[in-house]
Amino acid sequence: MEPTHDIVIIGAGAAGLTAGIYACRSNLYTMLLEKFMPGGQAALTAFVENFPGFPEGISGFELMENMRKQATGFGLEIVTAEVMCIEPHERAPFRICTSNGELLTSSIIVCTGVRPRRLEVPGERELFGRGISTCATCDGAFYRGMEVAVVGGGDSALDEGLYLTRFASAVHIIHRRDRFRAIHALVRKAEENPKIRFHLDTVVTTVNGAGAVESVSLQNVKTGEQSVLPVAGMFLYIGLIPNTEMFRGLLALNDRGFITVDRNLMTSVPGIFAAGDVRDTPLRQIITAASDGALAAYSAGKYLESLE
Ligand code: NAP
Repeated sequence: MEPTHDIVIIGAGAAGLTAGIYACRSNLYTMLLEKFMPGGQAALTAFVENFPGFPEGISGFELMENMRKQATGFGLEIVTAEVMCIEPHERAPFRICTSNGELLTSSIIVCTGVRPRRLEVPGERELFGRGISTCATCDGAFYRGMEVAVVGGGDSALDEGLYLTRFASAVHIIHRRDRFRAIHALVRKAEENPKIRFHLDTVVTTVNGAGAVESVSLQNVKTGEQSVLPVAGMFLYIGLIPNTEMFRGLLALNDRGFITVDRNLMTSVPGIFAAGDVRDTPLRQIITAASDGALAAYSAGKYLESLE
């Protein structure tokens, strides 16, 4: 049977949408499959300061909406569907079964991104969505005039902690070490913000509340000292888990579950490429995801030429 598509892109974050722009401009018949809504994690980012071309910064949602419009403007077809299986495992064309039917494609670009890690402490499961959140942009405004906790010491924790100072009366950043993973500029900005209080060398041991978050129990990892911090909300920014469960046994993954690729972003299976946060990479930014999307579409184009 003849393939129905040249390229099927899975995931509509910065990598997937950029791959769509490049593939469509190269006149390749391309479809993008997205499980939820276009935009990915970047659309949940309050404010993006480091995407070139926006000297005043831009909201993550607006940036991603612009990418979506640009991609569909070049003819990218975006379909809401969940991918259930990809067969055969070793060579093109690939049959993709989705919640919305089947496709036969000559190549695939995997851009399924990452999802936020959870703390796995008592109280978290019960109170998730009842004061515990992984999205300050979505939920920050509920905490006007209240105290909130942010867990983590990376760029996300500090970025989103700073964003939360717009609403909260105090933002407690709880980090398990005394050194931040976040870039210096963000740490300095947070240190200068009078609403931010740091709890270093400290972990959350329990989230407390009857039906909604009321406080978090803390432990200092150096002294062992325990305390209870009254907060109305807790935002988790403790890293990312790759959305690669469905590729186990199909694509080579590294020890943390990210997809390994060659310099052209080809995975261990010829014809399947991976781009953005989901791949093994030292830097996960919107700009690097977009860059990956461009290279993956280019490489897929070259691969398709080699099949002719
Ligand atoms: P991250 O850089 O992996 O940082 C995760 C933080 O959570 C680390 O400080 C880590 O502590 C802590 N952590 C991990 N597991 C924990 C646990 N079980 N309990 C308590 N703390 C835990 O994740 P991220 O901040 O979400 O950033 C992800 C990627 O996106 C990074 O590449 C980042 O640069 C990028 N990003 C960039 C921007 C920007 O450029 N403006 C904004 C947001 C994100 P340790 O430090 O002790 O490991």
